[in-house]
Amino acid sequence: MQLTLWTYEGPPHVGAMRIAASMHGVHYVLHAPQGDTYADLLFTMIERRGQRPPVTYTTFQARDLGGDTAELVKRHVREAVDRFQPDALLVGESCTAELIQDQPGALAQGMELTMPVVNLELPAYSKKENWGAAETFYQLIRNLLKAQVPTDINHDPKAWQQEGRRPRVNLLGPSLLGFRCRDDVLEVQKLLTLHGIDVGVVAPLGAGVEDLKRIPDADLNVCLYPEVAESTCSWLERNFGIPFSRTVPIGVGATHDFLVEVHSLLGMEAPAPDEGYKRSRLPWYSESVDSTYLTGKRVFIFGDGSHALAAARICSEELGFTVVGLGTYSREMARPVRAAAKALGLEALICDDYLEVEAAMAEAAPELVLGTQMERHSAKRLGIPCSVISTPMHVQDVPARMSPQMGWEGANVIFDDWVHPLMMGLEEHLIGMFRHDFEFVDGHQSHLGHAGGAGAADSSALSDIPVEGDGALHWTADGEAELKKIPFFVRGKVRRNTEAYARDTGCREISSETLYDAKAHFKA
Ligand code: SF4
Repeated sequence: MQLTLWTYEGPPHVGAMRIAASMHGVHYVLHAPQGDTYADLLFTMIERRGQRPPVTYTTFQARDLGGDTAELVKRHVREAVDRFQPDALLVGESCTAELIQDQPGALAQGMELTMPVVNLELPAYSKKENWGAAETFYQLIRNLLKAQVPTDINHDPKAWQQEGRRPRVNLLGPSLLGFRCRDDVLEVQKLLTLHGIDVGVVAPLGAGVEDLKRIPDADLNVCLYPEVAESTCSWLERNFGIPFSRTVPIGVGATHDFLVEVHSLLGMEAPAPDEGYKRSRLPWYSESVDSTYLTGKRVFIFGDGSHALAAARICSEELGFTVVGLGTYSREMARPVRAAAKALGLEALICDDYLEVEAAMAEAAPELVLGTQMERHSAKRLGIPCSVISTPMHVQDVPARMSPQMGWEGANVIFDDWVHPLMMGLEEHLIGMFRHDFEFVDGHQSHLGHAGGAGAADSSALSDIPVEGDGALHWTADGEAELKKIPFFVRGKVRRNTEAYARDTGCREISSETLYDAKAHFKA
């Protein structure tokens, strides 16, 4: 048992729903209790789709448990097939149905249906949404393509050269309820077209069963979202010999590396190293003098594995921030996130408990948080600016306007979104110099149109007011006055450092002198 208030991911059958709802001609019969239809709202309200997801629920009730629930499954499968006539059927169970073990997938497979039936076995008590999406995508493709698996693998990703055609790649992984997938696909398609590379199949988003069957026709697979598509890409590599790209093109450096990887796998000449500089505005914006004050800003990053890794690289290599915390809730991605954190001199936070993430955030005392919707709430409580970089997300992260994260335009969107919550340079400077203004008070961010200071956040969190009796530490009046002179966004960090220093040196009273001793100590 785990006491849980918020979860980063839903149960695995929501991942399966994401695959079915992203495609056309695929229907999902879900053995689930009455009430599980709540998940429809994720698609109709967050993704704002104009149609119901292609899911038939058995919606059993308590009184059904005394009867034949297996017959209930069969009836719903029959009705769904008659009504929707899908090209492929997914059959699985939700957490509660898993306990009654009706084996709905096996039942459906025994019904002699004319379309392929995929039996989904998603362990709801040990796995989560992204795993469920990856497993569903993998099982669907394996089921549809197993007849085409060659006996000897002789796939050549450079064959397009002899065949006198343009190279062709598949984009695998984008799905509904993924972060900005809709626009990432458009951006990556544009990027590849500029380089003379055609896109064959995009899946699961927008694909049908016939499209999936065309996957082996491509020279290369592009794995855009490893959380959803990596297991499928590696199965296609093992069984068809189709290689796949590993670099996720989020950020200018990563987009360049992605292009180099795709070009080299396809046997093409590497693209110009300064293409990103010419096509994205991020490099120049970040180099321009107005961005100087961004240098060394302390950033805490948390999200799914791919987006957290991409953000860490952009922050440290492209925006000049200092990453002070890095973590993910994607246990499957723990290894690369640990390696990236280590390279930044940090220990990665791998956990799915938002309270632990919030505590780590408070401890690191960053000036900016890049996280999920959960970190947006935590950062608000702590009074720290925040931008959302990953799912889970709310409806505002499925915007009407074009807003990719990938490619050159994605880097433009990222520059604007991540810098926007920070106090602008002139205001930061003026508040540091003049602390007694009646309007531009400490913590004020006039470009965001809020009052700032005590009104901007819960004043107990990361507060600049020393806590009485905290380990018998006492701040003298002049110590407190000196602390208040520190700009608000680094004050929390200075306060913690000073108190840690005081405890280490056995000093109980913190005066302005102790504060400066601590500053010198941590600088040394
Ligand atoms: S079956 Fe699972 S998803 Fe459905 S209500 Fe119960 S715990 Fe939630």
